Amino acid sequence: MRKNERGPGDATASHDAPSVRPAREAELATGLARVEERVARACDAAGRSRSEVTLIVVTKTYPAEDVRLLAGLGVRDFAENKDQEAAAKAAALADLPLTWHFVGQLQTNKARSVTAYADYVHSVDRVRLVDALARAVAQRERAPLNCLIQVALEEESGQGGGRGGVDPAGVAELAAALAAAPGLRLAGLMAVAPLTGGYAGAPGAAFERLMEIAGDLRLVDPAANMVSAGMSADLEEAIIAGATHVRVGSAVLGVRPALG
Ligand SMILES: *Cc1c(COP(=O)(O)O)cnc(C)c1O
Repeated sequence: MRKNERGPGDATASHDAPSVRPAREAELATGLARVEERVARACDAAGRSRSEVTLIVVTKTYPAEDVRLLAGLGVRDFAENKDQEAAAKAAALADLPLTWHFVGQLQTNKARSVTAYADYVHSVDRVRLVDALARAVAQRERAPLNCLIQVALEEESGQGGGRGGVDPAGVAELAAALAAAPGLRLAGLMAVAPLTGGYAGAPGAAFERLMEIAGDLRLVDPAANMVSAGMSADLEEAIIAGATHVRVGSAVLGVRPALG
């Protein structure tokens, strides 16, 4: 083995090896700058201030070291969609002042674990989950858990894709359940642009519908003003519709390997 090659068992081999870390940092800085530029342009086009939109970087499948590098580049808000992976990253990065968003489908038996690190849960879609989160959050000392109701816009046309979320007609019931739950705060709504139903291929129209539902919700609870919408492929449409938070993964970190 030549001098600067690293092999298994070499204690200094790690992903922050000097020759690798700056390269990855530069890659992430480039991805982040591109996304920042897209966000800024969309804000301009919509006549909105850049400060109205929070960029959440979705780091699923990427290592904690990438999160650390992005934090060094100024990112504060990170999202994950699987509890086990999220819990490990949050623990590895507990020394950093990060805000963690949980955006994946959530089983009630994971509620306890998620409330230990999450500041926001974007994927609340059934009353049983509200109950489980309320029970779990009673055990933690931190401030209330911010909850967003995930809306399945495709359900309106009876074309549920099984990707989580509640039918728009069910939002009011969930909002009431969240309002009544101690330790939980209704923060707003989240949606993913539908792949099926009438909004398939029309993210702009989907996000406008989401904004209407968000407007109805604010009549009941004016503080529930977060709208989490828009990913790498459609963040412009989301910002133009009025999203307050975009969740961007691959455009910052690179395309994830397909998961089985
Ligand atoms: C993965 C994921 C994202 C980010 O998707 P990209 O296309 O990589 O930007 C956003 N929201 C949710 C719910 C996700 O699971």
